[in-house]
Amino acid sequence: MEKCNQCIKCTVQQCKHHHQSRNFCTLDCIEVGTHEANPKMDQCTDCTSFDLR
Ligand code: SF4
Repeated sequence: MEKCNQCIKCTVQQCKHHHQSRNFCTLDCIEVGTHEANPKMDQCTDCTSFDLR
């Protein structure tokens, strides 16, 4: 079973770093960024470590 990082919860199953059967990331660390000039809500932030599976 692939290890998962229980400090990083994630539900993005389309990402190749997502654990196959649990809602966690498998990376040791991730980077979070934003696509907005002035972010004001959680929808403005992105996991920039995302890679399409
Ligand atoms: S890299 Fe980001 S989007 Fe991908 S599984 Fe990890 S936390 Fe989720």
